[in-house]
Amino acid sequence: MTLNLLPMATQDLQFQVTRNENAKTPEEREAILENPGFGQFFTDHMVDICWSERGGWHRPRVQPYGPIQLDPAAAVLHYAQEIFEGLKAYRHADGSIWTFRPDANAARMQRSAKRLAMPELPTEYFLDSLKQLIAVDGDWVPTQDETSLYLRPFMFAKEAFLGVRPAKKVNYYLIASPAGAYFTGGVAPVSIWLSTHYTRAGHGGMGQAKTGGNYAASLVAQQEAYENGCAQVLFLDAQRGEFLEELGGMNVVLVTRDKRLITPDSDSILEGITLDSVLQLGRDRGYTVEQRPVSITEWRDGAASGEIVEAFACGTAAVITPISEIKAESFGIRMPEVEDRVSLSLRDELTGIQYGRVEDRHGWLHRLDA
Ligand SMILES: *Cc1c(COP(=O)(O)O)cnc(C)c1O
Repeated sequence: MTLNLLPMATQDLQFQVTRNENAKTPEEREAILENPGFGQFFTDHMVDICWSERGGWHRPRVQPYGPIQLDPAAAVLHYAQEIFEGLKAYRHADGSIWTFRPDANAARMQRSAKRLAMPELPTEYFLDSLKQLIAVDGDWVPTQDETSLYLRPFMFAKEAFLGVRPAKKVNYYLIASPAGAYFTGGVAPVSIWLSTHYTRAGHGGMGQAKTGGNYAASLVAQQEAYENGCAQVLFLDAQRGEFLEELGGMNVVLVTRDKRLITPDSDSILEGITLDSVLQLGRDRGYTVEQRPVSITEWRDGAASGEIVEAFACGTAAVITPISEIKAESFGIRMPEVEDRVSLSLRDELTGIQYGRVEDRHGWLHRLDA
């Protein structure tokens, strides 16, 4: 007798595929892909993998996109045991479909899972789920410039139980949504609201996890940003209200005249994959990267003296967005008008790699349709 000593996590997952009988027709799909916006339309299928304390990961399925049935006592609805990821599928000129550093998303989802006392989805399953969905919904990856299919993996506590403890039943899902070009007519610098009343995460909290709770904490500050004519909100550290953290869903970087890229180091910000990639491209160009605490005073003084020449936000959705000004209740920081922004040149290089126009010298691309 041979014993199978492999742990559950390395066994092959056999996906059961159920085709959507009511899938959009090619004409309907094309009409959506002409102007998809962001997060409004979804492809015909989704992936669903169950986890239970007893059975581990099991029953991987590709099924028609549609509502999820939940018991009203499902733990996620009460205690927010939920995590997610976000990455994109890009169509290259030859028609092939690729994604960008998905192993980094898989690893981050595992770290988020640990923080929220949830089971870790093995990297192979994560990557396999992307391929499985693209195998049935690959036609949903748009072809126009700067468009993509946004992939949203997520996981939550499904167990119906009102006691407070880690759930014994969890489900992983993957859905996908076509995304239009984030900026139409050129990348426009944005005004950012500096929140001095609210923080999104604190030391020892969940700031490093990609979890809905951090977004819930950011919404009222985001509302304040809109009311003050700003596109996004920037948070400061919870302890002293002095050091930069990040925006609601993007990391922040300052650029100095003497070719340094400065970005906050803190245990309460999300480790962005776009940030990590941009810093690498910066190093490749001879920039020095400084990951350390950065105070709002340093930014203010540096902008005034001409030492800090650019500031930008970065994340998967918008890639890189230059920051034109910071508005706060009692002061503001105006960034200079710059002719040749390194932020935009880094943006071009990064999107060039993602869309297969620029050599992928770091091996960041991962093919999904083969
Ligand atoms: C997802 C996210 C980012 C950006 O991460 P990327 O991997 O670059 O998309 C930054 N901050 C927060 C809070 C996020 O949730």
